[in-house]
Amino acid sequence: MPLRPAVFLDRDGTLHRELERAPRALAELEFVPGLDGALRELASAGYVLVVVTNQSAVASGEVSVAELDALNLALRERFPIAACYVCPHHPERGAPPYVRTCACRKPSSGMLALACAELGLDPTRSWIVGDARRDLEAGLALGTRAILVRTGKGERERASLPAELAARVTVVEDVVAAARAVLAQGK
Ligand SMILES: [Mg+2]
Ligand SMILES: [Zn+2]
Repeated sequence: MPLRPAVFLDRDGTLHRELERAPRALAELEFVPGLDGALRELASAGYVLVVVTNQSAVASGEVSVAELDALNLALRERFPIAACYVCPHHPERGAPPYVRTCACRKPSSGMLALACAELGLDPTRSWIVGDARRDLEAGLALGTRAILVRTGKGERERASLPAELAARVTVVEDVVAAARAVLAQGK
């Protein structure tokens, strides 16, 4: 089977507004207006949608793996998201077994690489969409194209991107505009 194109999506600050504390239920999340339609258009165009999210709230004990799994399952039922990959680690803060240096925490590309292997995705025909520099770096290192959204931390992050990185990144208003940019540019 030929490898498929994907859109890798950061969660907090990209799909929904960032909260003070880690959310446990879908009802707590304020999604970007138009998100559902935008994701459905991407899925219909043949993109596999994959959430890749750092959740060090697991390491700090703020949220359990079970709670996080339940939330991600609800997310996949509500939107055409094929899979959610989570990094529960933090290099310094929290409790074992989650306090450690890992290969999955963005800006490392571990979650995206695993998704490519498990789901048969071609990173070079794919995109990363996120509100943080580390999202963009995780994708670019693997050969995806990169879109920074201005929601969440995005506006602040944009101002501090090194020129070399900024030159490789498309900046848009939000995830809905990111979907339009992906569809306009093609695979
Ligand atoms: Mg984020
Ligand atoms: Zn990790």
